[in-house]
Amino acid sequence: MRKHLKAKDIILIILILVVAAGAWLLHEVLKDTGSGVAVIRVDGVIEGTYPLTEDREISINGGSNTLRIRNGSAKMIDADCPDQLCVNQRAVSADNESIICLPNRVIVEIQSRQESEYDAVTN
Ligand SMILES: [Zn+2]
Repeated sequence: MRKHLKAKDIILIILILVVAAGAWLLHEVLKDTGSGVAVIRVDGVIEGTYPLTEDREISINGGSNTLRIRNGSAKMIDADCPDQLCVNQRAVSADNESIICLPNRVIVEIQSRQESEYDAVTN
């Protein structure tokens, strides 16, 4: 009887592990599809949308600003604006975070992928 219970316990533990692994996998997958994009607007017009998963440097507004995407976050690394506030801003990576360069009218906003797809449909 005790042995039987033990076997049941082991099956239960295996089941819990399988469920936990499944939940972790699901979480990883959801996290992946939920990773954001950097939406670049110049004077209110979308100039480009770039996934944060791909490292790159982007020349904005004919070269007035340069955005770098690296390790899942976006940072303004160069700008010809006099205040340099955008360059001094922290890197952004979370949904709805933004970098704004007022003098050059450049706005970089992080959006979740689902939202940007939704925008594409409604626009
Ligand atoms: Zn600036």
